[in-house]
Amino acid sequence: SSSPVELHPKVKAFLADGPKKLFIGGKFVESVSGKTFPSINPANGEVLVEVYEADAPDVDRAVEAAERALEGPWSKISPSERGRLLWKLADLIEENQEPLAQLETLDNGKPIRETRKADLPLVIDHFRYYAGWATKITGDTLSNSVSPYLFTYTRREPIGVVGQIIPWNFPLLMAAWKLGAALATGNVVVLKTAEQTPLSALYLAELIQEAGFPDGVVNILSGFGPTAGAAIVRHPRIRKVAFTGSTEVGKIIMREAAGNLKRVSLELGGKSPNIVFPDADFNRAVKGALHGIFFNQGQVCSAGSRLFVHKKVYDNFLSDLTDYASKLKQGPGLDETTEIGPLVSEEQFERVTGYLNKGKEEGAKPLVGGEPKPGPGYFVPPTVFADVHDRMTIAKEEIFGPVVAAMPFDDEEQIADVIRRANDTEYGLAAGVWTTDLRKAHRVAHALQAGTVWVNCYNVFDANVPFGGYKQSGFGREMGHYALDLYTEVKAVWVNIE
Ligand code: ADP
Repeated sequence: SSSPVELHPKVKAFLADGPKKLFIGGKFVESVSGKTFPSINPANGEVLVEVYEADAPDVDRAVEAAERALEGPWSKISPSERGRLLWKLADLIEENQEPLAQLETLDNGKPIRETRKADLPLVIDHFRYYAGWATKITGDTLSNSVSPYLFTYTRREPIGVVGQIIPWNFPLLMAAWKLGAALATGNVVVLKTAEQTPLSALYLAELIQEAGFPDGVVNILSGFGPTAGAAIVRHPRIRKVAFTGSTEVGKIIMREAAGNLKRVSLELGGKSPNIVFPDADFNRAVKGALHGIFFNQGQVCSAGSRLFVHKKVYDNFLSDLTDYASKLKQGPGLDETTEIGPLVSEEQFERVTGYLNKGKEEGAKPLVGGEPKPGPGYFVPPTVFADVHDRMTIAKEEIFGPVVAAMPFDDEEQIADVIRRANDTEYGLAAGVWTTDLRKAHRVAHALQAGTVWVNCYNVFDANVPFGGYKQSGFGREMGHYALDLYTEVKAVWVNIE
């Protein structure tokens, strides 16, 4: 059975109105070069709409608009008004949930059930959460040992113009993670979307305008990494850059940002271990492992892509996991019955296919999947590789696709060995632990080198809970009060009251 979604009139209107423009200084404008690039529907490889392509001169214009807003209207807006604007934006997103969910699914490929149930609610909640923070940014009054007549306090001030570069796996949610904290703390923003998925952020730009943010507070550019992205990273008057993407590009950004010692926060790749102990609630653990790797077609930086299953339950576990995986309904995202969509792009399809071949060459056995599907569209089926060894490429490199590497482990009460294997990676973004033994759960959670550990659950997120990496998964924590640190400078003020 299938149940295709009828396109919302607002989505039709949005797509008919191309080429889509850049959002600079509160206006939709063409790029200086006049160049455009296509945004592709990954379910069929067809062009959805053309989009204007930003490059360095457009970044310059956006920075100027942002500076004008920072010095002008934005500086006069009270924290409470900032909070109200963020709340208003959340309300507008809520009113536009269905067209936004459809647009996201069209551009990225992900199932509409997920954009409706996960992406959009998380986005709305995120803006509401940071709306609350706008009035709660505080400094401290401090004791000092110098003199009773010196009064000292700190202020939390916005950094100023911040650059934000986001990926294509959760286009709207990543924009929300970036904008919420930056705006709550009073910054102005130049945000570049990923070239694969520029659309939902441009729709968001319309809502930002409608909410009443002063012109130039938020500027949204469509464009490519080495051009527009690099121009943001190098811009001398952008004082901070926040990036989510690959570890490889994260390193380039850090090097380039050194040019003017920009503050940098990086949320990068992962190869997260998901560890199943024999005392785990078996069926929940199987479903958790399934969701851990196949959610969003595996295009999740925290995906549980290294599955360690205790020898005692390994065979049964893989048999159930394989069974569930083979029943996941794959198809175009804009079908309500679809559970797993296409990958985002042809390039991503080729990359993941390369890993499928590599896995087989190195001797891993696909229990399900293992072969890409013929086009149109960029479909790779859910794949479970058994007989994987820690040194195989598919156990070491981030695949960013629906491919899990399952490995048995064997240690009775000694958990040290599986922890050593779990930590034996340059990444450290997330990890999962499945057990009913409370003592073991916490011991393992404490020993894992990862910014997030999920116990008896996986891939859960909340605006109030920090997210970020250890080691080469990056640094800085988004969400919660932690994100406020990424977007504020601390100023100490000394006052002589003698
Ligand atoms: P992926 O490989 O998954 O596409 P990337 O890390 O390449 O992820 O891309 C994430 C974001 O970083 C995108 O918005 C992309 O355009 C941008 N980007 C890529 N290369 C650079 C670069 N050299 N400088 C700045 N941004 C870049």
